[in-house]
Amino acid sequence: MDSDILVSHARTAAITQGATGYLGIDLAALGRNYRKLVSMLAPVCAGAVVKADAYGLGAEQVAKALYAQGCRHFFVAQFVEAVRLRPMLAQDAQIFVLNGLQPGNEIACADMNIVPVLNSLAQWQQWSAAARALKRCLPAVLQFDTGMSRLGFPPEERADLATALRNGANIEGLFIMSHLASADETDGEQNSDQLAEMSCIAEEFPGFDVSFANSGGVFLGKAYHGVLARPGIALYGGAPTAATVNPMEPVVSLDAAVIQTRCVSPGTKVGYGGAHVAQREMRLATIAAGYADGLPRSLSDRGAVYYKGTRLPIVGRVSMDSITVDMSALPEGALTLGSLVEVLGPHQTLEDIARDADTISYEFLTGLGDRYHRQYR
Ligand SMILES: *Cc1c(COP(=O)(O)O)cnc(C)c1O
Repeated sequence: MDSDILVSHARTAAITQGATGYLGIDLAALGRNYRKLVSMLAPVCAGAVVKADAYGLGAEQVAKALYAQGCRHFFVAQFVEAVRLRPMLAQDAQIFVLNGLQPGNEIACADMNIVPVLNSLAQWQQWSAAARALKRCLPAVLQFDTGMSRLGFPPEERADLATALRNGANIEGLFIMSHLASADETDGEQNSDQLAEMSCIAEEFPGFDVSFANSGGVFLGKAYHGVLARPGIALYGGAPTAATVNPMEPVVSLDAAVIQTRCVSPGTKVGYGGAHVAQREMRLATIAAGYADGLPRSLSDRGAVYYKGTRLPIVGRVSMDSITVDMSALPEGALTLGSLVEVLGPHQTLEDIARDADTISYEFLTGLGDRYHRQYR
């Protein structure tokens, strides 16, 4: 290699800190996805769910980009996520903790201008005690369980909650909410059951605005929109419903580097456990991303990567730090040390790889490790 090339490689390596995988995050596409949801929801407000580091894409960058698009309601799952996000956003951005608070976090939460979602009388009582201690009224969101049995006031706690609200509570309920269990199924019966239950709750708790729709819910129609939607996956380019063509724009691309190539003869074993035995002469490339980088072991002998549109099947088991792919379909010498192959991009969508891995886009995105160089565009 001549010295100019070495120098330019050294510069690139310094910029990417030696990474062998590149996660591209298109913040402009994220913004267009947000605006698309805003226009579908209008005049209903669109918040954003940025839990789990904005589904692995980077909560800080994502939340700031969405704030610039006018988003002012940000939902995280855990208080620790809200604590990290709070200093990144202006004070007029509201941050809601979907899981509510663990005992002992109430005062810090109130001090930091973070709003808990209260899911039970136990959480209500803790928040109310904090309000007493601070001698002021504290804001909260009230979540109801409408059929998921996961989070939210269960039916049997509703009467006590209504009584607590009537008795001059020191908690200001900002809005009430619930979560759909099957929003991705556009004809799912569970959706209408949950909507009916939420309508009853809205009558029992008059005067409160309702937040109901996640990404899938936005596509279920006006009845599901409430006054504040909580989309997550659709913002990040994931398909909001199973049935239709994905209406969202891809946000994430992923490329990984070739770290070795070889030619093997028939009968050669490939990877851990010798699980794959070459049936013919094959040209193989080892790629620098494995299950520690979010390529699940379930992609073993199933998934693929792409190079300029050519499918390169994964052969043998996925290792922690690498996969091996069959590049026999490419002209000899097409891939060499340092070449990049497409894991996510124009030829392989999030849904494609998630399906091959027997999982869903959400799990695939949130599993992407932190060894990639993140390129925000
Ligand atoms: C994760 C989550 C969302 C976002 O769901 P998507 O399907 O990603 O749009 C909305 N609301 C609640 C309560 C959630 O837990």
